[in-house]
Amino acid sequence: MLERALHQTRLEMVTSQLAARGIQDARVLEAMGTIPRECFVSPELESLAYWDGPLVIGHGQTISQPFMVAAMAASLVLQGDEVVLEVGAGSGYGAAVLSRLARQVVAVERIPELLEAARARWSALGLDNITGVLGDGTLGVPEWAPFDGICVTAAAPRIPPSLLMQLCPDQGRMIIPLGARAVQQLCLVRRVQAGEVQIIPQFACRFVPLLGEEGWDEVHGPET
Ligand code: SAH
Repeated sequence: MLERALHQTRLEMVTSQLAARGIQDARVLEAMGTIPRECFVSPELESLAYWDGPLVIGHGQTISQPFMVAAMAASLVLQGDEVVLEVGAGSGYGAAVLSRLARQVVAVERIPELLEAARARWSALGLDNITGVLGDGTLGVPEWAPFDGICVTAAAPRIPPSLLMQLCPDQGRMIIPLGARAVQQLCLVRRVQAGEVQIIPQFACRFVPLLGEEGWDEVHGPET
C-alpha cells in the first residue's frame, strides 16, 4: 500500500518539481520517475522521500533535492553510451539515476559506511552498471578515465585539476558546485579548444563540502 502511494508521489514529484520547473529531457524525467528515492533514505524518512528538498543520510551528509539531481543529470546531456563519474556517491541515489542515462557510472565516495550502503542499494535494485569506488574523488578515478560526464555532488573551492584532466575534451561535460563553503554556483565546465576551459554558471546552490586533496581541507578553516 505504502509502496503504491510512494510510486504515485514519485510521479507527482516528476510533474510538479521537475517538469514544471523546466526539466525537459524526457530520459531524465523517465529515470526520476523510475528510481525509488525511498530506497535511498532511512526507513523513518521513507514517507518524506519525495519532499522538495535534501534529506539527511548520516555522517553529516545529505541526499540532494530531487530537482537538483535532475538538473545536474540533464546538464550532462547524456544519450546512453557514456561513461560518467559521480564524485560523492552518498546515498547512491544520484548514481542510480545516472545509471539509467549512461552506459557506465563510476561513483566515488570517501566515507566507507555510505559507500557500503549505496552498493547494497544498487545491487538490491539490480543496477549493475555502477561501480562504487572508495577514495578521494577530487583526484578522480584514473583507471576509468576519460569521462564523458562528471557530476560532482559536493561543493568545491575551485575545479579540481585532476577532474579536469579526466574529462573528455570538447564533448565532455562536468557539473560542479563552485564557490565558498557556505554557498556556491552550480557550474557547467567544458574543455574547449586549445586547452581552454569554459565555465558557465547555472544557478546558486548549497552543497556539503568536497573534502580532499584538491578540495577543501578536512579541518574547517575560515570562510573564503
Ligand atoms: N550524490 C549523493 C549526494 C551526497 S552528499 C546522493 O545522491 O545521495 C555529498 C557526498 O560527497 C557525501 O557523501 C560526502 O561524503 C562525499 N564527499 C565529499 N568529499 C568527497 C571526496 N573528496 N571524495 C569522495 N566523496 C566525497
